[in-house]
Amino acid sequence: EAISRSEKVKDENFSLEDYKGVWVFAEQRQGSIMNIAFELLGEGRKLADTLGVELGAVLIGDKVEEKAQELFAYGADVVYLIDHPELKNYRTEPYCGALEKAINAYKPEIVLIGATNIGRDLGPRIAGRIHTGLTADCTELAIDPEQRLLLQTRPAFGGNIMATILCPNTRPQMATVRPGVMKKMIPDYCRTGKIVEITYDAAAVKVRTAVREIVRETSRIVNLEEAQVIVAGGRGVGGPEGFKLLEEVAASLGGVVGASRAAVDAGWIPANHQVGQTGKTVHPKIYIACGISGAIQHVAGMQHSDIIIAINKNPNAPIFKVADYGIVGDLYQVVPLLIEALKES
Ligand code: FAD
Repeated sequence: EAISRSEKVKDENFSLEDYKGVWVFAEQRQGSIMNIAFELLGEGRKLADTLGVELGAVLIGDKVEEKAQELFAYGADVVYLIDHPELKNYRTEPYCGALEKAINAYKPEIVLIGATNIGRDLGPRIAGRIHTGLTADCTELAIDPEQRLLLQTRPAFGGNIMATILCPNTRPQMATVRPGVMKKMIPDYCRTGKIVEITYDAAAVKVRTAVREIVRETSRIVNLEEAQVIVAGGRGVGGPEGFKLLEEVAASLGGVVGASRAAVDAGWIPANHQVGQTGKTVHPKIYIACGISGAIQHVAGMQHSDIIIAINKNPNAPIFKVADYGIVGDLYQVVPLLIEALKES
């Protein structure tokens, strides 16, 4: 890949100046646009305005044209629509074929993709195919105004430092971005834009997979990324029964239960509840951390919560440094009082 990259830079037909505009991959599942697409549009809007260029959203699917309006409402100027029955459900080869064709045809300077299961599959493969770089799992993006370069920041070395990565010699500059980190715009349904249709040539793409059936998970789905209230427990909860208490608090606040890795590793709660560097990045209105020390890897996933409340019996626990409200005490005394107070209110 290193060879083909430098070849590309030497290729006399390649010019950085040919690439213009910020693109967002508008992830959809079963015809519904995922929240991550709106978050990326919110961030993409800022980047596009700084660069003075258009913000495009790439919408790939089957019979999804009517969803373009939602993308305009959340900030897109142009929707690049690739609509074909073969693209109904995500599959690596057809989606890569479609997005690669669109990028080669319209040459955006920046492409943002959600660091979701789909985006983590799609992004690196596209970057490899078009011989550019990709910064995975970004938590912060900005523009260097002098060089017009995308500053792509992500945690590195186990979350101990934040690394800012640049892609100066190839285009587009590609990044996957963690869900729940970027802010979406308040939608304006009067906003409109341009739809550019790109044809999908099914015969040109070799597809080796087929989706036979989509089976919904029967266990409770936890949507931490979209939750407004999260009541999270750590090692201090002491066992699986303790999480029942936290579920009670979460239920009375209309929220969901989160967890630290220590609680997940202990087998007290399934891994899809984990918040943090190797778990989910969350952005609720209220995050209540119960018996969580506040390790950097945990904080990386919840520090952008609007209000953080920490309950911990150790007054020196690092979680109090990021908390807006701290309660020093045993969670088995504090949480029942909280449940009682919520019942009364
Ligand atoms: P502890 O650090 O053991 O803290 C327990 C806390 O509970 C203590 O502060 C204690 O005072 C308090 N406590 C005990 N009993 C009570 C009680 N009865 N009432 C009130 N308070 C009480 N961690 C994550 O959470 N998410 C991640 O995604 C993640 N990714 C990682 C990635 C890497 C590469 C590495 C190296 C680590 C990662 N970790 C992650 C682990 C992280 O470093 C910590 O080990 C972990 O977050 C600690 O979990 P904890 O706070 O529940 O446990």
